Amino acid sequence: MANIHQKKQSHFGTGKSRYLSRQAYAVLEALAAAEQQGYPFIVVEINHALRLTLMVKDLIMPHHGLHEGEAVAYRITPRGKQALRQWLQRSQRGKPGDLCRECRQRQRHQQPSGRLAAYCLECQREYHRKRYHLRYGLVRQPKKKLCADCGQQPRAQTPKGRLYPYCVDCRKARETVIRQRWRERMKK
Ligand SMILES: [Zn+2]
Ligand SMILES: [Zn+2]
Repeated sequence: MANIHQKKQSHFGTGKSRYLSRQAYAVLEALAAAEQQGYPFIVVEINHALRLTLMVKDLIMPHHGLHEGEAVAYRITPRGKQALRQWLQRSQRGKPGDLCRECRQRQRHQQPSGRLAAYCLECQREYHRKRYHLRYGLVRQPKKKLCADCGQQPRAQTPKGRLYPYCVDCRKARETVIRQRWRERMKK
């Protein structure tokens, strides 16, 4: 029988989800580091759900102690190493380099505190200028010269020279519609 709630069912612990938590990668990192130092099996503290996920995905391998009550040690599997490698590559890609995020040409500006800004000096100034103008409403949309309705004819003018949003024809058409509606309302 089809289960209508199937989509909402959690993949937690089933190994079906593609994504691993940061915590999971931390475990894999610790196991990989231990193996490099010559201790493939180490005891790590992980909760039940995380252990289940990692085991079902075949990323870690348990080693039960010889004696009763001894803590379970784990080692990383080749698949686990691959997952860790891919994750490290992914997280490397998102990191900002030495180049400005905006123009991607100039070096990032070093702030007086020594920290690197996200932008180069030019782009940073531009960014602050824009933000200032936005905040104080100094950015004006360029006025459109053509009718907002048909977009072809120039906008109509008031006797004093101000512009209506619509051209003469569209204004008339709109007024007719408005007058018709008004008349219909009066009839009721
Ligand atoms: Zn720049
Ligand atoms: Zn028009």
